[in-house]
Amino acid sequence: MSSKIKWKGEISDKFPIQQGVREGGVLSTHIFKVYINNVLNELMKSRVEMKIGNIYTGTPTCADDIALLSDYIEELQIMLNTVLRNAKQDRVTIHPTKTNAVIINKGKTVRKNLQWNLGTTCITPTNQTKHLDQVEIGKPHQIWQSIGSSVTEVKRSINHYRIATGTYLLQTNIAKFSNNKETATCPLCGLEEEDMIHMLTSCMLLHDVRKTYLLRLKNIIIGYIGLRQ
Ligand SMILES: [Zn+2]
Repeated sequence: MSSKIKWKGEISDKFPIQQGVREGGVLSTHIFKVYINNVLNELMKSRVEMKIGNIYTGTPTCADDIALLSDYIEELQIMLNTVLRNAKQDRVTIHPTKTNAVIINKGKTVRKNLQWNLGTTCITPTNQTKHLDQVEIGKPHQIWQSIGSSVTEVKRSINHYRIATGTYLLQTNIAKFSNNKETATCPLCGLEEEDMIHMLTSCMLLHDVRKTYLLRLKNIIIGYIGLRQ
């Protein structure tokens, strides 16, 4: 495989790509998962207690970003060593300045001057990480703070959260992902395609749920416009 770079309307000569997967390729995510799985399996075997139910949760991963979670300073160093050894084996480099340590649930007993090593790079605790800057660790999103504790409310809020984060699966998405084997029509009213605009503004069956909030929103916006004039 080879690649060219387009920059300010100019296209470079092509150069060979000897490693990696094609960006946007259908198989790329699956091939990448096969590639990354060794290190995840090894980390999972080394620490079995960190679980929710029967699912190992010690190394949440998104594409080539990985978070290593541990209750113990020394264990985190072992995990870092494991990742580094696998990276060397696979001939990839870990970005030194994108690697951060974040202390969650800071107790009074946390030792000062903590540090870990990633090869020759020294890692010290920071409050912010580049990749987690959307998330304030230890502070739930306000959606979770605005709900009650009943099972129904929690279940309903999962959908609210998915809508807010753009991960709610609308009928139009389902149709698209199934190559139109599934219908895009709104399962509630059956009148229009169910996209985000339909669900939030025009689905008749959601009118009653919507009207109280719309009125409040309208008042807020009118008040805001009034303030600016
Ligand atoms: Zn509808």
